[in-house]
Amino acid sequence: MTGKLTSPSVIRELLDRLGHRPNKGLGQNYLIDANILGIITAAAEISPGDRLLEIGPGLGALTEALLAAGANLTAIEKDRAMAAHLRSHFPGLDLQEADVLDVNLNGLFAGGITGIIANLPYSVGSRFIVNALEARPLPEKMVFMVQKEVAERLTAQPGGKTYGPLAIWSQLNYTVKNIKNVSPRCFMPAPRVWSAVVRFDKRDAPLAAVPDYARFKKLVKLCFTQRRKQIGSNLRKNAPEFFQSLEKSGMDPAVRPEQIPIEQWAALAAREPGD
Ligand code: SAM
Repeated sequence: MTGKLTSPSVIRELLDRLGHRPNKGLGQNYLIDANILGIITAAAEISPGDRLLEIGPGLGALTEALLAAGANLTAIEKDRAMAAHLRSHFPGLDLQEADVLDVNLNGLFAGGITGIIANLPYSVGSRFIVNALEARPLPEKMVFMVQKEVAERLTAQPGGKTYGPLAIWSQLNYTVKNIKNVSPRCFMPAPRVWSAVVRFDKRDAPLAAVPDYARFKKLVKLCFTQRRKQIGSNLRKNAPEFFQSLEKSGMDPAVRPEQIPIEQWAALAAREPGD
């Protein structure tokens, strides 16, 4: 069945044989468009021997393409039936049957994995991406299929309605590009929403120095819980320590969170109240 794992009839046959129905809670929407599969694989720019991680291989359409491109692949799949199928279909694959949200990513990345490729299940999409962005060492490249709405938040620039914490966590260390919007018709069963393929390329250096990430994260999260509010009035009321830093920084307290670029968030979070 090599090369046919995007064929709806092959998918149906495999699912029948496994006695399995696509599980909505696990986001089991299988890719049935070979063109999109090619776009994901090309975006990953794989050189033979690259150590890559795939999340949620499912029946293995993307797995097969990544292995054919020469990747040295580790895969994490939560569903027992999918994992059993993958073990018999790809006997040499390094497969972990686990919930990717519970996996020790630091261990995987320290072990030499330099890239992540995945058609991510909707249920874990942005949560997994945030975990990956906080693990170390950071992968050099990541290519994900995510909900289009998540892609918009990942790639957003200051000033727009979708700009917020996800754009800030992502773009601090990566340039993030939407490679292609993907119609629900490219999956079986078809989801209700559009998807998009996004690519993360690690920057040579972070956009700004962040000496205390927890403090940076706290400041950004706090301000975006009230994204329409001027940061001065929010911080004065809710976080006096940051308000003092804001006053000393010379930043306009009337500015709203969605207008503040990453470098300014980093500078504000790095400033001790007495500085
Ligand atoms: N890669 C296949 C493809 O492109 O056709 C399937 C992609 S499907 C959108 C998502 C896959 O992620 C499913 O196989 C599902 O079982 C798996 N999955 C869902 N939640 C998961 C989790 N928390 N950890 C690991 N795998 C998960």
